[in-house]
Amino acid sequence: MGSETYDYVIVGAGSAGCVLAGRLSEAGASILLLEAGGADANPLISIPIGMGKMHQHHMHEWGDLSEPEPNLDGRRMPVTHGKVLGGSSSINIMAYTRGHPRDYDRWAQNGAHGWSYVESLPYFKRGEAWQGGEDVWRGGDGPIGTQWARTADPIYPS
Ligand SMILES: Cc1cc2nc3c(=O)[nH]c(=O)nc-3n(C[C@H](O)[C@H](O)[C@H](O)COP(=O)(O)OP(=O)(O)OC[C@H]3O[C@@H](n4cnc5c(N)ncnc54)[C@H](O)[C@@H]3O)c2cc1C
Repeated sequence: MGSETYDYVIVGAGSAGCVLAGRLSEAGASILLLEAGGADANPLISIPIGMGKMHQHHMHEWGDLSEPEPNLDGRRMPVTHGKVLGGSSSINIMAYTRGHPRDYDRWAQNGAHGWSYVESLPYFKRGEAWQGGEDVWRGGDGPIGTQWARTADPIYPS
């Protein structure tokens, strides 16, 4: 091991760790990003439906189970989370979702200052590049590209 020094050490290269490392390095900081899992070279990671195959074979995940659930006859349920570069975002469904505005507002009312939906919205927008460009709700040039779901049964406008 060398004797390099870093401005920040980030443990876990999942969604939050990678965003943090990206933003800090854009600002000129040097980062050591540590990840317990391996590289994200598996092509299934880049294919939305590839998630099904990864789950079937328990690939790139920690394999954790819940405590025995009294309301499920004592069964222990899988608590899936990613163990790979990209973390859970490398094994997820790739559906872009935000929480319900009322949840954020309730958190703010209960003391989480700065977390109301109106205050959170600029950060959601900053992260998003919506296919239709920026509007009141959507971001236009963030790092996460978003689009309507592609489907043979067009329930959404194209
Ligand atoms: C199956 C599944 C499907 C999902 N589908 C969606 C979806 O479609 N849309 C959506 O918005 N959200 C979805 N989610 C949720 C979303 O992916 C997660 O909320 C998000 O990725 C969590 O980000 P995180 O940074 O908190 O944690 P993670 O992304 O899980 O990152 C944690 C990282 O830390 C690493 N780590 C942990 N301990 C250590 C250690 N001691 N040393 C080094 N590294 C360590 C882990 O290996 C992992 O890479 C899904 C989640 C799962 C599990």
